[in-house]
Amino acid sequence: MSAALRTTCPYCGVGCGVLAKATAAGCEISGDPEHPANRGRLCSKGAALAATLGAEGRLLHPVLDGQQVAWDTALSAVATGFTRAISAHGPDSVAFYVSGQLLTEDYYVANKLMKGFIGSANIDTNSRLCMASAVAAHSRAFGEDLVPGCYEDLEVADLVVLVGSNTAWCHPVLFQRIAQAKERRPALKVVVVDPRRTPTSDNADLHLPLRSGTDVWLFNGLLAFLHRNGYADAPYVSSRTRGLDAALAAAQSCDAAAAVARACGIDTERILEFYRLFAATPRVVTAFSQGVNQSSSGTDKANSIINCHLLTGRLGQPGMGPLSLTGQPNAMGGREVGGMSTMLAAHLQLSNPGHQQLVREFWASPRIATRAGLKAVELFKAMYERRIKAVWIMATNPVVSLPDADRVRAALARCPLVVVSDCVAPTDTSELAHVLLPAAAWGEKDGTVTNSERCISRQRAVRAAQGEARPDWWIVSEVGKRMGFAPSFDYRTPCEIFCEHARLSGAGNNDTRSFNISGLASLSAVQYEQLPPTQWPVPTPGHTGMARLLGDGRFRHSDGKARFVATVARAAIHECDREFPFVLNTGRVRDQWHSMTRTGYVPALVEYLPEPFVDLHPQDALLAGVRVGELARLTTSWGSMVVRVRTSGEIARGTVFAPIHWSGMSASEARVGALVSPAVDPISGEPEFKHTPARVEPFVVDWYGVLCTRRALATPDFAWWTLVRCGGTLRYELAGRGTPADWSAWARPLLQATDPHADYLEYRDVGTGSYRSVFLCDDRLAAYLCVARRAELPPRRWLVSLFEKRSLAELDRLGLLAGRPMSKGQDQGPLVCSCFGVGRNTLRETIARDHITRLEEVGARLQAGTNCGSCVAEIRALLQASAAST
Ligand code: SF4
Repeated sequence: MSAALRTTCPYCGVGCGVLAKATAAGCEISGDPEHPANRGRLCSKGAALAATLGAEGRLLHPVLDGQQVAWDTALSAVATGFTRAISAHGPDSVAFYVSGQLLTEDYYVANKLMKGFIGSANIDTNSRLCMASAVAAHSRAFGEDLVPGCYEDLEVADLVVLVGSNTAWCHPVLFQRIAQAKERRPALKVVVVDPRRTPTSDNADLHLPLRSGTDVWLFNGLLAFLHRNGYADAPYVSSRTRGLDAALAAAQSCDAAAAVARACGIDTERILEFYRLFAATPRVVTAFSQGVNQSSSGTDKANSIINCHLLTGRLGQPGMGPLSLTGQPNAMGGREVGGMSTMLAAHLQLSNPGHQQLVREFWASPRIATRAGLKAVELFKAMYERRIKAVWIMATNPVVSLPDADRVRAALARCPLVVVSDCVAPTDTSELAHVLLPAAAWGEKDGTVTNSERCISRQRAVRAAQGEARPDWWIVSEVGKRMGFAPSFDYRTPCEIFCEHARLSGAGNNDTRSFNISGLASLSAVQYEQLPPTQWPVPTPGHTGMARLLGDGRFRHSDGKARFVATVARAAIHECDREFPFVLNTGRVRDQWHSMTRTGYVPALVEYLPEPFVDLHPQDALLAGVRVGELARLTTSWGSMVVRVRTSGEIARGTVFAPIHWSGMSASEARVGALVSPAVDPISGEPEFKHTPARVEPFVVDWYGVLCTRRALATPDFAWWTLVRCGGTLRYELAGRGTPADWSAWARPLLQATDPHADYLEYRDVGTGSYRSVFLCDDRLAAYLCVARRAELPPRRWLVSLFEKRSLAELDRLGLLAGRPMSKGQDQGPLVCSCFGVGRNTLRETIARDHITRLEEVGARLQAGTNCGSCVAEIRALLQASAAST
């Protein structure tokens, strides 16, 4: 048996270290106790990585126009297609749309090919959708895209402010670090600024549920409060910064807590409590994420936060500073190589002729991009307008994830050459591709990623690539060679690419750019292989990196000073009206990642919130005429979707929340991107994912159903459906219009198509409109269908558990026909703890039976809540409910 290999989780920007050990049965995963990001912890997604290594859903061979072809044929087709488009229409007629899922080495090569050899800056990334506003804000304030602090600051601070971040679900390991620091030191205060009540806010000392998009009011008000009450660090401000007067003037309208309270929709007292706490606490970290960035004023929001830290000089010291939490595993690496249409490479500026010349000479390239290319939303708009003739999409799924996503689909359908390289297929995007290139997946790739605290970590291959999959850097290099640039793309290993990237970071640097890893430029293959997690900068060999930057007050603007930015509070671009009265907010759920192309195949992850939903306030649900558990149509000016109704109690009146994960592969009509407005921040180009006017209406159906099978339906053809992949069992949630005259005649062909040799049992109740059908093959459950007029159907985890049985007991058959378990304890209820598979009913019953009052006791009995901690808030709520009922 092999030793465990050190690698890095491919999901969120925390960048946890993972130990992966190949075993006879596959791979064992655990947290790396030596990685500084997580010290052995993993969240539910990271812990389930081994289950993503299978072949299901993988793209395994190159495909050209629907036919499997040899690599050489596919690569030549891409090179020829791009070369032709460039010669006929110029370099700006082609584009790459890449991803924070790529490794730094992949990103570097793609950026080099586009900016240095094709000569356009039309390379943008899905990171534009996630943290472009933070990049722009850092550059405006500090003169370079720098994250001054580190994760340890969250533990040594006395106040942690989490803005627009459901950290408990989206950066779970960081949330655990904060929670554990608070347990050790209860004086550590946590404030959450978020329109929604979330598991993060449930654990906070203070929650500010501000009105969507009003962050600038809140932080401008804080700036004015701090200044007026003498909390400015005057020597720091005068010697290290410029622009305070303009920033204060812009904040003037917020210089009264009552005015801020009105704008934000929060009590004045709560605002003042936050302001006083911030003012009185020197060690304060303000961590911000998508709730800040994904806004038409995202850059100003981030700068309004940074302004408060500059005013108080709380920056770059232990426990102090703004901290941008990136969504993706390598959003930072992409920024370092310049993999955005607004950057050059190595933090060099696209608009600077000296930088252009430096990079061109370094690459010995025939040309260099000299102006910004198209940002993500602009890029697909240009494609829709037929200005883009060839596009290469790498490791991302824009037909699901971009705003105005139906227009994105139409744009791709119009584009003469669409190339998709990905590790998975089919996806909503790959269905539109002329060329599909199979890329290596996590566990097969080898390279580096950089997390939110500037820590460069190795991702290492645990196993050989499946099928004909190849690393992305190899695929791009091979196309580069075929386009006539062979000497510049003759890479043999990711180590060679990393060293070139590191050398470029030091080229002409002379301490003018903090991003300098030239100390790693001469790594041997063995040293690269063994590279430990390292926080840049690493300007000289042997340098061990730096946890914090800017603590010396030397900023990267030409005069060495930071800039306050005058941030003017303004409304979102599209406001609600009578037709669209709700603000649609979008985001992630705990156990899923992006468009579910990997986490959607993991049984342990699909059970928690398994269907697309809209969450709204119970009173709004009543007024909109929609009922919990039934279906609603959610519509905006850009598109619509049909989803299950939820009233979690987390949503304020007038707003609705819908998750981002579902695609055309997993549901009939649930791509939330299709509804999101294409409005963007004018500086960063980041879309406004958190604020689209919407309306909610009932989606009336005649029946609801659940169908479980072992084989996929060829074409799910119902008024509504969603697919939940529970390992070997595929669970379709269904709804239909028009009730068949004979359910049996309707259902039999459907179920027999999934197993023609099965026998069946049926139950029908004409009075209630219920029908159930059990298909058995050698006493094993082959398929099951239950339909009813109301969305009250059998417990799903119980149903799926019966598919795992080798043979059904008599009581199981009876239960299937009755539509409920026949014996007590068989229904564990909806999943709460993914790590240990503990359901809500089990938790409730155990808490009541054993008179449990403390979280630790629940953990001791059931393990629930003892690993990733993401379910802790839910378990606490069950404990409270139990206490209240006794
Ligand atoms: Fe992966 Fe979870 Fe760590 Fe994020 S917090 S890197 S998803 S294990």
